Amino acid sequence: MNGHTADYDVIVVGAGPAGSITAKTVASEGYRVLVLEKNASCRSPCAGYISRTINFEVPGESVIQSKITKMRTYFPDLSFHDFQLNGFVVNRPLFDMELAMKAVEAGAEIKWNSPLTGMSPGGVRFRDGKSSGKIIAGADGVFSKTAALLGSGKQRFAACAQYHMKGIPTLPQTCEIFFDALYAPGGYIWVYPTGADSAKVGLGIANSKIPPREYLDAFISNAAGRFCGEKKEYITGALPVGGLREKLVFDNVLLVGDSAGMADPVTGAGINNAILAGEIAGKTIIKALEKDDLAVLLEYETGIKKLLGKTLAKALAKRKQMDACCNNEQLQKHLPELWVTFKKYWV
Ligand SMILES: Cc1cc2nc3c(=O)[nH]c(=O)nc-3n(C[C@H](O)[C@H](O)[C@H](O)COP(=O)(O)OP(=O)(O)OC[C@H]3O[C@@H](n4cnc5c(N)ncnc54)[C@H](O)[C@@H]3O)c2cc1C
Repeated sequence: MNGHTADYDVIVVGAGPAGSITAKTVASEGYRVLVLEKNASCRSPCAGYISRTINFEVPGESVIQSKITKMRTYFPDLSFHDFQLNGFVVNRPLFDMELAMKAVEAGAEIKWNSPLTGMSPGGVRFRDGKSSGKIIAGADGVFSKTAALLGSGKQRFAACAQYHMKGIPTLPQTCEIFFDALYAPGGYIWVYPTGADSAKVGLGIANSKIPPREYLDAFISNAAGRFCGEKKEYITGALPVGGLREKLVFDNVLLVGDSAGMADPVTGAGINNAILAGEIAGKTIIKALEKDDLAVLLEYETGIKKLLGKTLAKALAKRKQMDACCNNEQLQKHLPELWVTFKKYWV
């Protein structure tokens, strides 16, 4: 490894869930960890639904906007299917900031306003500086600069838009999902409650060059008066829908979370996988540092493929089927094979 002269044992790029959990895990063992974050604070664009399917302690009750017990999925003809869930909707910037502060409490240092700009085997360059580090974890999201510097190809992504709407009716503790090829080609519209009369109303589209906001505005204005409240807090963003990258480890660099394509290619859910991957990355990095052997990092790739590979490959196959459903007639017919809350998805 880089010897003992490096400024840090680990440099983590990105203070999203993947980066903060990686940083916290490694710093907890007393190693020197630097997190580089492009922005001045955490602000990943997101709807913030998190299912309680992984063993993870929510950082603080104050980040929860709504408990969720049900998902209602609407077919194009507005008939629907209900499914019991156990999860919550979080305020994503607050959620991410709490995770970042846990990393700081564990001993990690965060440099805000510090986008990664370059990388060499011995370290990184970022706006206004450079640092050396033995291991680098690229947790910088769907358009990962780390992956680009490694020569990894660009990922296929879904473009998303969302308003936090006030003064609209919501279904208590229910995430609503609408499928309609006219308003969300290759994707879906979500309505996630944040209160009795407020919800995040957004959509993701995978098969159109028209900006997602145009689709969202059209959906909202054509929804028979349901969403005639105030449109607040507009956000736009993207998530990977091309499935898990083939290669996750490059000598002393590993890719974690969306930078590695860990979001589900159909649902777009990526928070839990980012957290799981951050834990595995952190533990593997600790082992590599203890043994002073970079080859140990390859265990991260094997571990991730074992844990997430099959599920993400299945979802990628479903994504391809969904791409082929380009009108509402086909969506109406095939939705139960394509959406996770239906039994048919799993056969
Ligand atoms: C609109 C929208 C809604 C979504 N809704 C949900 C949902 O409800 N539930 C769910 O599970 N998932 C959802 N997702 C997906 C989810 O947001 C991601 O899967 C998740 O954030 C991945 O975490 P991450 O840490 O890998 O990446 P990110 O959260 O994207 O974090 C990456 C971090 O890296 C930083 N960064 C980027 N480039 C650089 C650079 N060059 N140098 C330094 N830092 C950099 C970014 O600023 C960011 O802080 C949604 C995504 C979008 C776009």
